[in-house]
Amino acid sequence: MAEIIDGKTLARHLDAQTANDVRQMMGGHGIRPGLAVVLVGHDPASEVYVARKVQACERVGIDSFEHRLPADTSQEALLTLITRLNIDPTIHGILVQVPLPAHIDAGVVLGAIDPSKDVDGFHPVNVGRLSTGAGGLVPCTPLGVMKLLDTVYQDLTGLNVVVIGKSNIVGKPIAMLLLEREATVTVTHIETRGLPDIARQADVIIAAAGSPRLVRGFWVKEGATVIDVGITRVPNEHGKDRLVGDVAFDEIAHARAATPVPGGVGPMTIACLLANTVLAAQRAIGGA
Ligand code: NAD
Repeated sequence: MAEIIDGKTLARHLDAQTANDVRQMMGGHGIRPGLAVVLVGHDPASEVYVARKVQACERVGIDSFEHRLPADTSQEALLTLITRLNIDPTIHGILVQVPLPAHIDAGVVLGAIDPSKDVDGFHPVNVGRLSTGAGGLVPCTPLGVMKLLDTVYQDLTGLNVVVIGKSNIVGKPIAMLLLEREATVTVTHIETRGLPDIARQADVIIAAAGSPRLVRGFWVKEGATVIDVGITRVPNEHGKDRLVGDVAFDEIAHARAATPVPGGVGPMTIACLLANTVLAAQRAIGGA
Protein backbone atom coordinates (compact mmCIF):
# COMPACT_ATOMS: atom_id res chain seq x y z
CA MET A 1 0.00 0.00 0.00
CA ALA A 2 1.35 3.42 -0.94
CA GLU A 3 2.23 5.79 1.89
CA ILE A 4 -0.35 8.57 2.00
CA ILE A 5 1.29 11.98 2.07
CA ASP A 6 -0.82 13.89 4.56
CA GLY A 7 -1.05 17.47 3.30
CA LYS A 8 -3.44 18.52 6.06
CA THR A 9 -1.01 17.65 8.84
CA LEU A 10 1.96 19.16 7.01
CA ALA A 11 -0.05 22.36 6.43
CA ARG A 12 -0.88 22.51 10.16
CA HIS A 13 2.85 22.26 11.00
CA LEU A 14 3.69 25.00 8.51
CA ASP A 15 0.90 27.20 9.94
CA ALA A 16 2.30 26.72 13.46
CA GLN A 17 5.71 27.87 12.21
CA THR A 18 4.11 30.85 10.42
CA ALA A 19 2.15 31.81 13.57
CA ASN A 20 5.43 31.69 15.50
CA ASP A 21 7.12 33.93 12.90
CA VAL A 22 4.21 36.39 13.23
CA ARG A 23 4.62 36.47 17.04
CA GLN A 24 8.35 37.12 16.65
CA MET A 25 7.72 40.01 14.24
CA MET A 26 5.18 41.47 16.65
CA GLY A 27 7.58 41.09 19.59
CA GLY A 28 10.69 42.31 17.80
CA HIS A 29 9.32 45.05 15.55
CA GLY A 30 5.71 45.63 16.65
CA ILE A 31 4.66 44.84 13.08
CA ARG A 32 1.83 42.48 12.17
CA PRO A 33 2.00 41.13 8.60
CA GLY A 34 -0.94 42.28 6.47
CA LEU A 35 -2.49 40.62 3.42
CA ALA A 36 -4.88 42.43 1.05
CA VAL A 37 -7.25 40.10 -0.76
CA VAL A 38 -9.03 41.57 -3.78
CA LEU A 39 -12.08 39.87 -5.25
CA VAL A 40 -13.88 41.28 -8.29
CA GLY A 41 -17.37 39.91 -8.95
CA HIS A 42 -19.18 36.92 -7.45
CA ASP A 43 -17.64 33.76 -8.91
CA PRO A 44 -18.84 31.12 -6.37
CA ALA A 45 -15.56 29.14 -6.31
CA SER A 46 -13.56 32.37 -5.89
CA GLU A 47 -15.83 33.44 -3.00
CA VAL A 48 -15.07 30.14 -1.23
CA TYR A 49 -11.30 30.46 -1.83
CA VAL A 50 -11.22 34.05 -0.58
CA ALA A 51 -13.21 33.17 2.56
CA ARG A 52 -10.77 30.31 3.28
CA LYS A 53 -7.74 32.53 2.81
CA VAL A 54 -9.15 35.21 5.12
CA GLN A 55 -9.97 32.60 7.81
CA ALA A 56 -6.48 31.14 7.46
CA CYS A 57 -4.94 34.59 8.04
CA GLU A 58 -6.88 34.89 11.29
CA ARG A 59 -5.62 31.49 12.46
CA VAL A 60 -1.95 32.54 12.25
CA GLY A 61 -2.34 36.19 13.29
CA ILE A 62 -1.93 37.86 9.88
CA ASP A 63 -4.14 40.96 9.37
CA SER A 64 -6.34 40.46 6.32
CA PHE A 65 -7.99 43.27 4.39
CA GLU A 66 -10.75 42.19 2.05
CA HIS A 67 -11.62 44.30 -0.97
CA ARG A 68 -14.79 43.02 -2.61
CA LEU A 69 -15.55 44.91 -5.79
CA PRO A 70 -18.59 44.65 -8.07
CA ALA A 71 -18.29 42.61 -11.29
CA ASP A 72 -18.52 45.80 -13.41
CA THR A 73 -15.52 47.44 -11.71
CA SER A 74 -13.36 49.10 -14.36
CA GLN A 75 -9.77 48.04 -14.93
CA GLU A 76 -8.72 51.61 -14.11
CA ALA A 77 -10.47 51.50 -10.71
CA LEU A 78 -8.83 48.17 -9.93
CA LEU A 79 -5.40 49.53 -10.89
CA THR A 80 -6.00 52.57 -8.67
CA LEU A 81 -6.72 50.24 -5.72
CA ILE A 82 -3.55 48.25 -6.42
CA THR A 83 -1.45 51.42 -6.55
CA ARG A 84 -2.88 52.39 -3.15
CA LEU A 85 -2.12 48.94 -1.69
CA ASN A 86 1.40 49.00 -3.17
CA ILE A 87 2.30 52.08 -1.11
CA ASP A 88 0.38 51.13 2.05
CA PRO A 89 2.99 50.14 4.68
CA THR A 90 0.49 48.00 6.62
CA ILE A 91 0.07 45.74 3.57
CA HIS A 92 2.88 43.24 2.93
CA GLY A 93 1.07 40.92 0.52
CA ILE A 94 -1.45 41.59 -2.25
CA LEU A 95 -3.54 38.84 -3.75
CA VAL A 96 -5.93 39.45 -6.63
CA GLN A 97 -8.20 36.42 -6.94
CA VAL A 98 -8.38 35.05 -10.48
CA PRO A 99 -10.23 34.59 -12.77
CA LEU A 100 -11.06 38.27 -13.27
CA PRO A 101 -14.10 39.38 -15.29
CA ALA A 102 -13.54 39.26 -19.08
CA HIS A 103 -13.31 43.05 -19.51
CA ILE A 104 -10.23 43.18 -17.24
CA ASP A 105 -6.79 42.20 -18.55
CA ALA A 106 -5.43 39.92 -15.80
CA GLY A 107 -1.86 40.30 -17.11
CA VAL A 108 -1.99 44.08 -16.72
CA VAL A 109 -3.50 43.85 -13.24
CA LEU A 110 -1.13 41.18 -11.89
CA GLY A 111 1.78 43.07 -13.46
CA ALA A 112 0.79 46.21 -11.55
CA ILE A 113 1.35 44.58 -8.14
CA ASP A 114 4.61 45.54 -6.44
CA PRO A 115 6.75 42.37 -6.96
CA SER A 116 7.85 42.51 -3.31
CA LYS A 117 4.17 42.21 -2.27
CA ASP A 118 3.26 39.63 -4.95
CA VAL A 119 2.57 36.70 -2.60
CA ASP A 120 1.05 34.63 -5.43
CA GLY A 121 4.35 34.88 -7.33
CA PHE A 122 2.63 35.63 -10.66
CA HIS A 123 4.37 38.95 -11.47
CA PRO A 124 6.81 38.66 -14.43
CA VAL A 125 9.64 39.83 -12.17
CA ASN A 126 9.02 36.92 -9.79
CA VAL A 127 8.60 34.50 -12.71
CA GLY A 128 11.98 35.68 -13.98
CA ARG A 129 13.57 35.35 -10.53
CA LEU A 130 12.20 31.82 -10.24
CA SER A 131 13.55 30.77 -13.62
CA THR A 132 17.00 32.19 -12.82
CA GLY A 133 17.03 30.82 -9.26
CA ALA A 134 17.16 34.36 -7.87
CA GLY A 135 14.89 33.91 -4.84
CA GLY A 136 11.72 35.90 -5.55
CA LEU A 137 8.29 35.04 -4.16
CA VAL A 138 7.34 31.55 -5.41
CA PRO A 139 3.77 30.57 -6.44
CA CYS A 140 1.96 28.87 -3.55
CA THR A 141 0.82 25.57 -5.09
CA PRO A 142 4.24 24.73 -6.60
CA LEU A 143 5.88 25.65 -3.27
CA GLY A 144 3.44 23.33 -1.48
CA VAL A 145 4.23 20.51 -3.92
CA MET A 146 7.96 20.84 -3.17
CA LYS A 147 7.33 20.72 0.59
CA LEU A 148 5.23 17.56 0.14
CA LEU A 149 8.00 15.95 -1.93
CA ASP A 150 10.49 16.85 0.80
CA THR A 151 8.57 14.57 3.19
CA VAL A 152 9.35 11.61 0.90
CA TYR A 153 12.86 12.40 -0.41
CA GLN A 154 15.88 13.93 1.32
CA ASP A 155 17.37 14.76 -2.05
CA LEU A 156 15.77 15.15 -5.48
CA THR A 157 19.07 15.09 -7.40
CA GLY A 158 18.80 13.06 -10.58
CA LEU A 159 15.23 11.90 -9.96
CA ASN A 160 13.19 11.50 -13.11
CA VAL A 161 10.11 13.71 -12.67
CA VAL A 162 7.22 13.92 -15.12
CA VAL A 163 5.00 16.99 -14.73
CA ILE A 164 1.60 16.71 -16.41
CA GLY A 165 0.32 20.21 -17.24
CA LYS A 166 2.26 23.29 -18.32
CA SER A 167 0.24 26.20 -16.94
CA ASN A 168 1.97 29.37 -15.78
CA ILE A 169 0.64 28.99 -12.25
CA VAL A 170 1.27 25.28 -11.63
CA GLY A 171 3.14 23.15 -14.20
CA LYS A 172 5.86 25.58 -15.33
CA PRO A 173 6.84 26.91 -11.88
CA ILE A 174 6.94 23.35 -10.51
CA ALA A 175 9.32 22.43 -13.33
CA MET A 176 11.57 25.42 -12.47
CA LEU A 177 11.67 24.50 -8.78
CA LEU A 178 12.53 20.88 -9.62
CA LEU A 179 15.33 21.95 -11.95
CA GLU A 180 16.78 24.10 -9.15
CA ARG A 181 16.91 20.89 -7.08
CA GLU A 182 18.78 19.02 -9.87
CA ALA A 183 15.88 16.74 -10.82
CA THR A 184 15.52 15.64 -14.45
CA VAL A 185 12.21 17.14 -15.53
CA THR A 186 9.86 16.27 -18.39
CA VAL A 187 6.96 18.68 -18.80
CA THR A 188 3.97 17.22 -20.65
CA HIS A 189 0.61 18.58 -21.74
CA ILE A 190 -2.55 17.84 -23.69
CA GLU A 191 -0.68 17.49 -27.00
CA THR A 192 2.02 15.18 -25.62
CA ARG A 193 2.18 11.89 -27.50
CA GLY A 194 2.56 8.60 -25.64
CA LEU A 195 2.00 10.12 -22.20
CA PRO A 196 1.41 6.77 -20.41
CA ASP A 197 4.82 5.50 -21.61
CA ILE A 198 6.53 8.75 -20.57
CA ALA A 199 4.84 8.66 -17.17
CA ARG A 200 5.92 5.05 -16.63
CA GLN A 201 9.58 6.14 -16.72
CA ALA A 202 9.06 8.55 -13.83
CA ASP A 203 10.31 8.28 -10.26
CA VAL A 204 7.84 11.07 -9.47
CA ILE A 205 4.66 12.02 -11.33
CA ILE A 206 3.11 15.42 -10.67
CA ALA A 207 -0.38 15.57 -12.16
CA ALA A 208 -1.75 19.08 -12.73
CA ALA A 209 -4.12 18.68 -15.66
CA GLY A 210 -7.59 19.04 -14.16
CA SER A 211 -8.71 15.77 -15.77
CA PRO A 212 -10.25 13.20 -13.39
CA ARG A 213 -8.65 9.70 -13.40
CA LEU A 214 -6.20 10.73 -16.15
CA VAL A 215 -3.30 8.97 -14.41
CA ARG A 216 -4.13 5.27 -14.32
CA GLY A 217 -2.38 2.57 -12.33
CA PHE A 218 -0.50 1.25 -15.37
CA TRP A 219 1.06 4.72 -15.91
CA VAL A 220 2.79 4.47 -12.55
CA LYS A 221 6.08 2.61 -12.10
CA GLU A 222 6.39 0.33 -9.05
CA GLY A 223 7.72 2.47 -6.18
CA ALA A 224 7.10 5.85 -7.87
CA THR A 225 5.65 8.83 -5.98
CA VAL A 226 2.50 10.52 -7.26
CA ILE A 227 1.53 14.10 -6.39
CA ASP A 228 -2.02 14.93 -7.44
CA VAL A 229 -2.56 18.67 -7.90
CA GLY A 230 -5.78 18.32 -9.89
CA ILE A 231 -9.07 19.46 -8.44
CA THR A 232 -12.31 18.90 -10.33
CA ARG A 233 -15.77 19.31 -8.84
CA VAL A 234 -18.09 16.45 -9.76
CA PRO A 235 -21.65 15.95 -8.47
CA ASN A 236 -22.13 12.96 -6.13
CA GLU A 237 -25.27 10.80 -5.94
CA HIS A 238 -26.96 13.40 -3.67
CA GLY A 239 -26.35 16.15 -6.25
CA LYS A 240 -23.67 17.80 -4.10
CA ASP A 241 -20.17 18.54 -5.40
CA ARG A 242 -17.22 16.43 -4.37
CA LEU A 243 -13.60 17.09 -5.26
CA VAL A 244 -11.64 14.62 -7.37
CA GLY A 245 -8.03 14.68 -8.47
CA ASP A 246 -6.27 13.64 -11.69
CA VAL A 247 -5.14 10.26 -10.39
CA ALA A 248 -7.03 6.95 -10.20
CA PHE A 249 -5.99 6.68 -6.56
CA ASP A 250 -7.52 3.18 -6.14
CA GLU A 251 -5.16 1.83 -8.83
CA ILE A 252 -1.82 2.99 -7.41
CA ALA A 253 -1.30 0.77 -4.37
CA HIS A 254 2.07 -0.19 -5.94
CA ALA A 255 3.31 3.42 -5.67
CA ARG A 256 5.80 4.41 -2.94
CA ALA A 257 3.75 7.40 -1.81
CA ALA A 258 0.85 9.52 -3.04
CA THR A 259 -1.18 12.60 -2.09
CA PRO A 260 -4.95 12.22 -1.66
CA VAL A 261 -7.57 14.63 -3.03
CA PRO A 262 -8.82 16.31 -0.95
CA GLY A 263 -6.24 16.61 1.84
CA GLY A 264 -3.02 16.65 -0.20
CA VAL A 265 -1.83 19.65 -2.19
CA GLY A 266 -4.88 21.86 -1.46
CA PRO A 267 -4.18 22.60 2.24
CA MET A 268 -0.50 23.26 1.43
CA THR A 269 -1.43 25.98 -1.08
CA ILE A 270 -3.05 28.16 1.59
CA ALA A 271 -0.33 27.42 4.15
CA CYS A 272 2.28 28.58 1.60
CA LEU A 273 0.30 31.76 0.91
CA LEU A 274 0.50 32.61 4.63
CA ALA A 275 4.21 31.76 4.73
CA ASN A 276 4.82 33.95 1.67
CA THR A 277 3.00 36.86 3.34
CA VAL A 278 5.23 36.60 6.41
CA LEU A 279 8.33 36.30 4.19
CA ALA A 280 7.29 39.46 2.30
CA ALA A 281 6.79 41.28 5.63
CA GLN A 282 10.17 40.07 6.95
CA ARG A 283 11.86 41.31 3.77
CA ALA A 284 10.03 44.66 4.02
CA ILE A 285 11.55 45.26 7.46
CA GLY A 286 14.91 43.88 6.37
CA GLY A 287 14.70 40.68 8.40
CA ALA A 288 14.97 38.08 5.62
P1 NAD B 1 -4.85 24.82 -16.73
O1 NAD B 1 -6.16 24.45 -17.32
O2 NAD B 1 -4.35 26.21 -16.82
O3 NAD B 1 -3.71 23.85 -17.32
C1 NAD B 1 -3.94 22.48 -17.46
C2 NAD B 1 -2.74 21.86 -18.11
O4 NAD B 1 -2.94 20.46 -18.18
C3 NAD B 1 -2.51 22.34 -19.56
O5 NAD B 1 -1.14 22.56 -19.75
C4 NAD B 1 -3.01 21.18 -20.42
O6 NAD B 1 -2.28 21.05 -21.63
C5 NAD B 1 -2.77 19.99 -19.51
N1 NAD B 1 -3.75 18.93 -19.73
C6 NAD B 1 -5.09 19.02 -19.66
N2 NAD B 1 -5.66 17.84 -19.95
C7 NAD B 1 -4.64 16.98 -20.22
C8 NAD B 1 -4.59 15.63 -20.61
N3 NAD B 1 -5.70 14.92 -20.80
N4 NAD B 1 -3.38 15.07 -20.79
C9 NAD B 1 -2.24 15.78 -20.60
N5 NAD B 1 -2.23 17.08 -20.25
C10 NAD B 1 -3.43 17.66 -20.07
O7 NAD B 1 -4.98 24.37 -15.19
P2 NAD B 1 -4.12 24.80 -13.91
O8 NAD B 1 -4.55 26.12 -13.43
O9 NAD B 1 -2.67 24.51 -14.14
O10 NAD B 1 -4.67 23.71 -12.87
C11 NAD B 1 -4.50 22.34 -13.09
C12 NAD B 1 -5.31 21.57 -12.07
O11 NAD B 1 -4.79 21.86 -10.77
C13 NAD B 1 -6.79 21.96 -12.02
O12 NAD B 1 -7.54 20.83 -11.70
C14 NAD B 1 -6.84 22.95 -10.88
O13 NAD B 1 -8.12 23.00 -10.27
C15 NAD B 1 -5.82 22.35 -9.96
N6 NAD B 1 -5.23 23.32 -9.02
C16 NAD B 1 -5.15 22.91 -7.74
C17 NAD B 1 -4.58 23.76 -6.81
C18 NAD B 1 -4.49 23.30 -5.40
O14 NAD B 1 -4.33 24.11 -4.52
N7 NAD B 1 -4.55 22.00 -5.15
C19 NAD B 1 -4.09 25.01 -7.20
C20 NAD B 1 -4.14 25.38 -8.55
C21 NAD B 1 -4.72 24.50 -9.46
